[in-house]
Amino acid sequence: MNHSSVAPESVPARQIKGVSAPKEQELHAFGIYTALDLMNYFPFRYEDYRLRSLAEAKDGEKITIQGILRGLPMVARFGKGKTRLTAKAEADGQLITAVWFNRMFIKDQLQLGREITLTGKWDARRMQITVTDSEFPDKGTAKTGTLQPVYSVGGTITQAWMRKTIRQALEQYGPLLEENLPERLLRKYRLMPRSEAVYHIHHPEDPKDGQGARRRLVYEELFLFQLKLQAYRMLNRRKADGIVHRVDPEVIRQFAASLPFELTDAQKKVVNEILADMRQPFAMNRLLQGDVGAGKTVVAAIALLAAVKAGHQGALMVPTEILAEQHMRSLTRLYEGTGLQTALLTGSVSDKKRRDLLAGLQMGLVDVLIGTHALIQDDVAFRSLGLVVTDEQHRFGVNQRSVLRRKGPSPDVLTMTATPIPRTLAITAFGDMDVSTIKERPKGRIPIQTYWVKHGMMDRVYGFIRREIDAGRQAYVICPLIEESEKLDVQNAIDQFVQLQQAFPDLKVGLLHGRMTASEKDEVMAAFAAADVQVLVATTVVEVGVDVPNATLMIVMDAERFGLSQLHQLRGRVGRGAHASYCVLVADPKTETGKERMAVMQETDDGFEVARRDLELRGPGDFFGTKQSGMPDFKLADMAADFAVLEAAREDAAELAAEDGFWTAEAYAPLRAILAKDPIFQGSQLD
Ligand code: ADP
Ligand code: MG
Repeated sequence: MNHSSVAPESVPARQIKGVSAPKEQELHAFGIYTALDLMNYFPFRYEDYRLRSLAEAKDGEKITIQGILRGLPMVARFGKGKTRLTAKAEADGQLITAVWFNRMFIKDQLQLGREITLTGKWDARRMQITVTDSEFPDKGTAKTGTLQPVYSVGGTITQAWMRKTIRQALEQYGPLLEENLPERLLRKYRLMPRSEAVYHIHHPEDPKDGQGARRRLVYEELFLFQLKLQAYRMLNRRKADGIVHRVDPEVIRQFAASLPFELTDAQKKVVNEILADMRQPFAMNRLLQGDVGAGKTVVAAIALLAAVKAGHQGALMVPTEILAEQHMRSLTRLYEGTGLQTALLTGSVSDKKRRDLLAGLQMGLVDVLIGTHALIQDDVAFRSLGLVVTDEQHRFGVNQRSVLRRKGPSPDVLTMTATPIPRTLAITAFGDMDVSTIKERPKGRIPIQTYWVKHGMMDRVYGFIRREIDAGRQAYVICPLIEESEKLDVQNAIDQFVQLQQAFPDLKVGLLHGRMTASEKDEVMAAFAAADVQVLVATTVVEVGVDVPNATLMIVMDAERFGLSQLHQLRGRVGRGAHASYCVLVADPKTETGKERMAVMQETDDGFEVARRDLELRGPGDFFGTKQSGMPDFKLADMAADFAVLEAAREDAAELAAEDGFWTAEAYAPLRAILAKDPIFQGSQLD
């Protein structure tokens, strides 16, 4: 058969020598279907069979040495049919003892004067090697002198079989692997050609060679990933099918002047970035990140105003009904005197109201629609949707976002997140977006003091509550989510609520949890916002976005049950006004990381620093807390260790995707073909 025209990805694994039908079935469990998959099944470590000299072998080490048999084998039997075979051998001019356990079959091959290579654990005191592997040079040596790949195997697939099969695939199809990286990038980083790298990652000649192979493949993996994001971003720009918002700067200036505070420089900067995008013919796809309390809502309000004043409508989508209600209240207040019409759409709006609202939306009577996921349902139609703002939606990955964009004509999209994201993660999870960051908080904010106390100190915590309330402030008491049971979780909050009522009979204590109806929740929140309720006992339903500037005390019960970013979010509910604020973490952590988390919270109230430490403690996979995070599973790359490569790959990808030639030149057709296979480009013409 002539292979030269066959692409390895279209060759079923069955065609590789030694792969039977049942074995092929088993390979599927490893995600291996084709010759290419076999070659791309990389080892996770190597076994070292390189020859060593005895002089440098350390006691207890696994070594491979060359020797000549100098004594006839002797057999000792012990236990149930167990054997111990010993033979003297000469290695590096020394006489040593080789020991085999339960390897009687080798006895007849151990002839005097025969050369042998021995691999095993070295006992320096006894001058003895316990042999796990041996080869006879007169019969050929396959392993001796090499690094042998170690694959993840299982079922009836053994390490030896996998090695043989992958090697076979490499020999037959390895040379057909085509280069997929641009020549200039190969040169820039002195990367191995692809076919060479794939071969050498399985069979490195030495560790340096293996590292070179890995370096090339890690770069390839990160580059292709970043190229997908950057190409997606550029494709969107090139399509230029967005709305050009003609924004009158004077209108924006007037609105800003009407605010009860002056915008911070950071807010002004991001407003300008957003408005600049909105004026462009492509659909904006921008991430607005800023620490809790940085003042993102007013930025969103300005962008929405700009869309409306340019003759379109806006939508603000938030994850919870509580937040939707709150934004409804604050935007309505902010828009007083502008003539803008706001409306609220959540799952608990009655059918009749919903019908009226949808009609008004279609006629353009509603300018800004605020709501939960109910906003993106099929029957919600705008007269002219110009801007979608999503708040606290960091759990959306690029795939979900691309679905949202494909709904109808292309509105501008602004995604806000209050979880500061370490750059590594940001350029991975949000690499398709442009990013605006609010670094500074409004002036006059006093840093939040954080204390960690044991459960035994609740009396003092109660004293603290009393002090703040007497000073006219308000407090939150947060009860943790008990994952196994929402019912327990609610019970926990109810118990806490009863205790606080007993401890403070003269105060109004409120209760808020996930089992309450939307209108019950709204009622409690409104009462808390109006300071009719002084102490609010809540589950994590208040985690994101809730804004009651008069609240200055955040008490988190069983704080060890929360992740760092979550604690930071909770803490961000206070310190939102001019008063000094406090966060008290009540915790008796049993683990070291639990203690470490409490320490980090005490040390810093900078969200970016908290995020960095969180990433350190948890690792990237868990950082967002959900599988939906949009974080890719890299095969080889390690986001922490290969960070510098990730940065470089991102720049290279951005540069390439910005070139016209990338979209038209024949030379890039293979790269475009790789991208076209990705679901986010589904329906897009890449050539
Ligand atoms: P977040 O970024 O966490 O969403 P918010 O938008 O809720 O923050 O703002 C937090 C608080 O700060 C709100 O009460 C808001 O009115 C106030 N705020 C926003 N911008 C400023 C500013 N420039 N100066 C003073 N207070 C501000
Ligand atoms: Mg917010």
